[in-house]
Amino acid sequence: VGAETDAGASVRFTVVDAPKPRPRVIFSGIQPTGIPHLGNYFGALVNWVKLQAEAGADDKLLFSVVGWHALTLPQDPRKLAAARSDMIALLLAVGIDPKRSVIFHQDHVQAHTELSWILGCLISVGRLQRMTTWKSRLAVARNANDESEIDDSVLNTGLLTYPVLQAADILAYKSTHVPVGDDQQQHIELARDIADAFNRAYSKKRRFFSLPDLMTTPSKRILSLTDPSAKMSKSAFDPKSRIELTHTAAEITTRIRGATTDSIQGITYDPVARPGTSNLLTILAACTGESAEACAARFASRDHGALKAAVTEAVEAALAQPRKEFTRLRAEQTYLADVAAEGAVKAREMADATLREVRKLTGLA
Ligand code: ATP
Repeated sequence: VGAETDAGASVRFTVVDAPKPRPRVIFSGIQPTGIPHLGNYFGALVNWVKLQAEAGADDKLLFSVVGWHALTLPQDPRKLAAARSDMIALLLAVGIDPKRSVIFHQDHVQAHTELSWILGCLISVGRLQRMTTWKSRLAVARNANDESEIDDSVLNTGLLTYPVLQAADILAYKSTHVPVGDDQQQHIELARDIADAFNRAYSKKRRFFSLPDLMTTPSKRILSLTDPSAKMSKSAFDPKSRIELTHTAAEITTRIRGATTDSIQGITYDPVARPGTSNLLTILAACTGESAEACAARFASRDHGALKAAVTEAVEAALAQPRKEFTRLRAEQTYLADVAAEGAVKAREMADATLREVRKLTGLA
């Protein structure tokens, strides 16, 4: 390309093509342990839809309903079957598009369990015992009066090895990015370490698995409405602790009205000293797109009643559309089964290709 300077001299530039960014493989999962709540929505689902909209043509997106993970806690088979189908309906209702993203049931792709076994042989029991989720289960199983006494019957092997299955879910697709809530950070670090252990053991020259990157959401972790020391969870015993995506306006009002706050006057954002109040501000911020601090400033001289009214209105505005769409889709069981079946075909094709290579590398071909 030629150009002329102010002084009239001619200058030549060479235009070099910028290296093409490598296509991303974006994978995430959600357990069919009940209707997703506000934490799942703002911590995961909203982000998935945004990633889908921004993804390049070569990027692949996979969203899985992870039924095997759900079995780490006791499940009623009939309720689990319904929850699996509901979860497909909910993914569609929030805006995941089966033409653009692979939507599938984890348990339709056997490669996950095979890879999980191979990867489990590369990680120590001690490392799994140091995972926060295992330690919190252990704390529940410990006798409050006698620390040395543990109720072993509630500690199944799946609870310990669950993060290995999660690593297999991710690596079966050679995923490069994993969009999850910040509660999953330790699990993604483990998946990276497992990928690295596999590469060192079986693929020294060529890095077979790339180390998957955690993509956290801008929204902060949403806490239980009744016990803000815990995160909002589908499996939590107290149903008043969460707002589910299918709750009616009246249910939303009741749950937010009953949310734990404090007796301090005025509204400030202070997650340590005022976890309940700050959690309401986090929810308001997630709904409006502001920061929690900016929301606190708006309500600084007002009371909890005013804050709760604003949170109720914002949550209802955020959930009205997905709730309507979910109700419509739930009646379309054949369509939901078709979406899952088509997703399974696409997912199997990718995961089986990885497993063929894994078997060769490990001497199991
Ligand atoms: P369960 O209560 O059955 O263990 P869960 O509600 O914790 O389930 P998962 O299905 O394990 O949710 O997670 C799905 C996604 O939702 C993950 O990306 C997780 O990080 C995110 N997530 C779950 N709970 C919250 C929360 N309270 N705040 C923000 N993100 C969350």
